[in-house]
Amino acid sequence: MKYFIITYGCQMNHSDSEKIATQLELAGHKSVKTASAADLIVINFCSVRQGAVHRALDQTQKLGNKKIIAAGCILPSDQKKLTAKNISIWHPDDYFYQAPLRQNKFSAFVPIMTGCNNFCSYCAVPFTRGREKSRPAAEIVNEIKKLLKNGTKEIILLGQNVNSYQDQKIDFPLLLQTINKLPDNFWLSFLSSHPKDMSDRLIKTLAQSKKIIPYVHLPAQSGDNKILQAMKRNYTVGHYKTLVKKLRLAFKKYRPAWPPLAITTDFIVGFPKETDQQFQNTLKLIQATKFDMIYFARYSPRPGTAAAKIKDSIPANEKRCRAQAINSLLKQQSLAINKKYTNKNIDVLIERISGQFAFGKTSTNKAIQLPKGKLRSGQVIKAKITSASPWCLKGLEKPR
Ligand code: SF4
Repeated sequence: MKYFIITYGCQMNHSDSEKIATQLELAGHKSVKTASAADLIVINFCSVRQGAVHRALDQTQKLGNKKIIAAGCILPSDQKKLTAKNISIWHPDDYFYQAPLRQNKFSAFVPIMTGCNNFCSYCAVPFTRGREKSRPAAEIVNEIKKLLKNGTKEIILLGQNVNSYQDQKIDFPLLLQTINKLPDNFWLSFLSSHPKDMSDRLIKTLAQSKKIIPYVHLPAQSGDNKILQAMKRNYTVGHYKTLVKKLRLAFKKYRPAWPPLAITTDFIVGFPKETDQQFQNTLKLIQATKFDMIYFARYSPRPGTAAAKIKDSIPANEKRCRAQAINSLLKQQSLAINKKYTNKNIDVLIERISGQFAFGKTSTNKAIQLPKGKLRSGQVIKAKITSASPWCLKGLEKPR
């Protein structure tokens, strides 16, 4: 059959779609470029937000009489709706160990674990992906060696909670140290980590491993202790601030050269019963920490989770106002941080060429635009930053 994959959600789902593609090719199916040209459609679901679930369920109705497979993060209540329509369901475990059919030659997602044991009260992942499972370290390292041999410049390790990775005696810091020792030149990063598992040993490993880019994504979710407790996040605002301080100090000590460590985070606004004062505490944490980027979401209840049993008490327009308040603070802060990049030189990975421009990212994971010149996708170059806005840098290639 001719197949097409529709992917919703995070990098993990995009990575899983590459594994699903292998599974389909091995069964003799052939990929096509559009859904309309396909007889078989795989929809890779995301259950993190209600909006994504609705969009995916709508898709299943629009596809007429094509064969549909639903994969990814699907809550049991949505699984029932899908099977009632005769849609087959593939669980993430069905393809976790499959080799991916890679879409990008120079940047590779490498899943190291899947699932989660944390049961944050708002999150569907433990219900859709099940408990934590780590891949064997030897298999991960071999996969990375092959990628590097084929010219991959960037390795992004993936997992719902990478810092609880464990393969017998190999934990996450040890896995990073092993990958860092590979001889090739490449960028190494990972998503996503949980503040409660960010140990001193891990912080030291990040700062000392020169192939790990100076960029850490550390989801905070709230700046208020009572809300963090209700979210079952198992850390306090004080602990979070201490981690940020330790990370910045470790990078200053072991990597004093510019650029400094970039830190990004996630926040959820409008968690049930979040008072205005509690939301102000989130703004205070943002003021104090000065994040390079914030990914924020308005709370929506996920069926079956602990938080879904509490009334979704914050009105939609109040959630919108709180999201806007974070956005305007972020805009000021990221502009101030990005302006410090002006006239500095930084490594850039070119990701795509469009029209007269090359688009890429800096080694601190900031979006950058340069004149196309002779640049090609997949090149790592030195660039001089010429101007900065809150969401993007502009620069010029610097001759080596
Ligand atoms: S750590 Fe919490 S938010 Fe992250 S996947 Fe696990 S349950 Fe969800």
